[in-house]
Amino acid sequence: MNSHVQNTNNPIRTRFAPSPTGFLHIGGARTALFNWLLAKRHGGQFFLRIEDTDRARSTQDAIDAILDGLTWLGLDWDGDVISQFERAGRHAEIAHELLAKGQAFKCYCTPDEVQELRDQAFAEGRALRSPWRDRDASEAPADTPYTVRFRAPDSDMVLEDAVQGSVRWAAKEFDDLILLRSDGTPTYNLAVVVDDHDMGITHIVRGDDHLVNGGRQSQIYDALGWERPVFAHVPLIHGQDGKKLSKRHGDLGAEAYRDMGYLPEGLRNYLLRLGWSHGDQEIFTDEEAIAAFDLAGLNKAPARMDLDKLNHINGHHLAHADDDRLTELVLPFLDTLEDRITDADITRQRLLTAMPVLKTRAATLEELARQSYFLLKIRPFHLEGKAAKPLNDEARQRLYRLFTRLSDLSGWAEESLAEELKQFAETEEVGFGKVGQPLRAALTGGAPAPDLAQVMTFLGREEALDRIKDQMSADA
Ligand code: GLU
Repeated sequence: MNSHVQNTNNPIRTRFAPSPTGFLHIGGARTALFNWLLAKRHGGQFFLRIEDTDRARSTQDAIDAILDGLTWLGLDWDGDVISQFERAGRHAEIAHELLAKGQAFKCYCTPDEVQELRDQAFAEGRALRSPWRDRDASEAPADTPYTVRFRAPDSDMVLEDAVQGSVRWAAKEFDDLILLRSDGTPTYNLAVVVDDHDMGITHIVRGDDHLVNGGRQSQIYDALGWERPVFAHVPLIHGQDGKKLSKRHGDLGAEAYRDMGYLPEGLRNYLLRLGWSHGDQEIFTDEEAIAAFDLAGLNKAPARMDLDKLNHINGHHLAHADDDRLTELVLPFLDTLEDRITDADITRQRLLTAMPVLKTRAATLEELARQSYFLLKIRPFHLEGKAAKPLNDEARQRLYRLFTRLSDLSGWAEESLAEELKQFAETEEVGFGKVGQPLRAALTGGAPAPDLAQVMTFLGREEALDRIKDQMSADA
């Protein structure tokens, strides 16, 4: 097997080569991540090439979607973005070099003839061979369009893949591949080989849907006398049910995950573990991922998309994220919450105060928004149904007595508030629930919230007392 650690004169150069489909698919994001990590691990470089030869699909919007997705995920690339389409002249030049070396030939078959040859080859259980591979150019009909075909080797092809192991194809399985179409435009496999060679790519990690292309591309490398890169064909991601990934399973663009409230580092960590393992370590910082990533850890069995695991990993990163940053990131997610205060300063200040606790209670930014709702609800609350249930007359009167007691407090710290609540329940000669439930209803209006003493400190003295006052009754 080819060694995947190169010497320092030949540092690792990887690339991500997406075709613009409209967004950065989750599978593409994982491919980009693996290539990025491999480069980082070895102090190498990671390049981005857009395979934009399909002109109808390669709109600026479709390209921007990929760039935006990578940027959001924090997968920065070296140098300029390379356009495959713009390199068509170079691809043709190499096709002509292969022609000159006799490794390619001009094929004058008409489309009908090709179809006939293909049917015949299929019936014989082999790939197409053009009769022109052995014909003399002098037999060529005048003024007839031709394609340039690769002269498929007569020997078997063996690809030493870093994930799949040694993969072998019989010579008859590969046809005389078209390199240049009759209009002179290059075909996919030629373009990929020429680009990867010219970019100095040493390692290609990509989905195993490209494994056969890996074989064909190796034939072209060999014919040109170019050193093959290391190939690592990674099994595609499957759905939780083991079936091919579809939208239903989470085959979405990276931006959809951003909009669902995942952090880029959370998604990165999740994608890292989706097809790569390092013992049973689940959580990785970027530094740890870079230090540990290797081709040997890529799994041969397809990984399954697991949103519960994504939530778990994201929740971990959320709990460790910076409070200021989370406060900014959660703001757009507050928009779905009804009847909330809109004053930007108060919103930020309350979020920031509560963030060290709130961030440990959520898996996504969306959930973080729901967890912070109690801070931002506009008072007075009009409580009905379940939310109003703890607030019977007795409870409202008790709130009045609690209000009086809390108003007399000199400080407003979490510990002393917790102590005060405990003592109040004792004075009232009731269990803590008889104090806690109505107080929680008054302070949060039934929204999810942490411990009551914490809630009171997060709201601040004035807001907390006002909320109690809104719900209490003075006719004790
Ligand atoms: N453009 C190809 C794709 O999006 C990737 C080709 C490659 O990585 O060699 O599937």
